[in-house]
Amino acid sequence: MFPLKFIIVGGGILGSSLYHLLKEAGHEVKVFDSGKRRVFPTLIHSLLLKGRDVELAKESLDFYRRVGVPMRELPSITLGHVPQDLITLWEGVGVKVEEKHVEWLRARGLYAKGGDRLVSIAHLIHSTPHVKAEVSVDPETFTLRANGREVKGDVIVIAAGAWNPQTVPVSSKSYYCWATLALFGTSEVGSHIIYDYEKGFYSRPLLGFGGNLAIVGDGDVIESPPGRRICVNSADVLSRVRERLGRLAPLYTAGEFCEGTPDMRPAFGKLKENVYYVGGLNGYGAEVGPGIAKLLVDFILKGEENKEYSLSRFNGLRDFRLGREPHEI
Ligand SMILES: Cc1cc2nc3c(=O)[nH]c(=O)nc-3n(C[C@H](O)[C@H](O)[C@H](O)COP(=O)(O)OP(=O)(O)OC[C@H]3O[C@@H](n4cnc5c(N)ncnc54)[C@H](O)[C@@H]3O)c2cc1C
Repeated sequence: MFPLKFIIVGGGILGSSLYHLLKEAGHEVKVFDSGKRRVFPTLIHSLLLKGRDVELAKESLDFYRRVGVPMRELPSITLGHVPQDLITLWEGVGVKVEEKHVEWLRARGLYAKGGDRLVSIAHLIHSTPHVKAEVSVDPETFTLRANGREVKGDVIVIAAGAWNPQTVPVSSKSYYCWATLALFGTSEVGSHIIYDYEKGFYSRPLLGFGGNLAIVGDGDVIESPPGRRICVNSADVLSRVRERLGRLAPLYTAGEFCEGTPDMRPAFGKLKENVYYVGGLNGYGAEVGPGIAKLLVDFILKGEENKEYSLSRFNGLRDFRLGREPHEI
């Protein structure tokens, strides 16, 4: 039957990517989003990942270019030991890597060009048509209701991010992650991304136009159901950032909920005949999200299953502890 009518629950990075990919393939797509998740203007897209994730990040980058999502390329500096096989992997996807002393950091680091970008995720999400509605899913029959009315489609995809484990029975959990916008004494923070594995933080410009503003965080995982009010103590992270970058004035701290799987890597799979799940993007959804969406589309339309990211690898496991985010080295 062509075209198929797809219903997507969740209009975040995954839901929006699925919309474009399925439209490109000629299908009808309706995205439902409750609007309960805060959308950050830009997120980091980095090719400096590990294993097969690098290919997904490359696929995501191609997607952003094709769909016209605004991006700003920035050099990055990685502090801490990086194994040679990773450097070789990154060079293989066109990243120029050089080890050198960075004067304003008073440290030797890996200076990379062509590997990191700020991506206007807000543009991707806000330019994707969606119906504003909270969708409920019957756990037995997988019947969907939006604002009390039944929703029907040929294929249903659940892509509700941190709300996935509350919506359908899957091997994932939600957690809180935060970052602080700060004013720095150095303007270099406005034009570089820093991954500091020695002090344990990352720093990224607000928008990438230069200046003294940067967002810092440590990607720590605070397990919690989505929506709960979480109070964070940023003092420890900020003191580590000060040790590296000098004086700073914190301006604003914000966070959101992410979704993690037992091995903290993304997953997709079939839940029932025509119902699919995709999620577990944890702290690197802008990096691999469109790539994972593409794997799911190939699975649904062509029957090609990539075992590495298949939900079946967890065997229905629900009792587990979340680990470290896999984009960290
Ligand atoms: C502080 C912070 C910084 C981050 N920085 C980066 C970064 O720099 N780079 C990066 O790659 N990633 C980053 N991330 C992670 C990134 O935000 C996530 O990986 C990504 O948003 C996950 O995308 P998603 O589409 O799976 O879920 P989401 O973006 O959460 O989208 C899910 C959507 O589903 C909707 N929804 C939920 N339940 C329902 C329902 N029942 N009915 C209808 N709609 C529903 C929600 O409203 C939401 O819009 C960061 C996260 C945080 C918290």
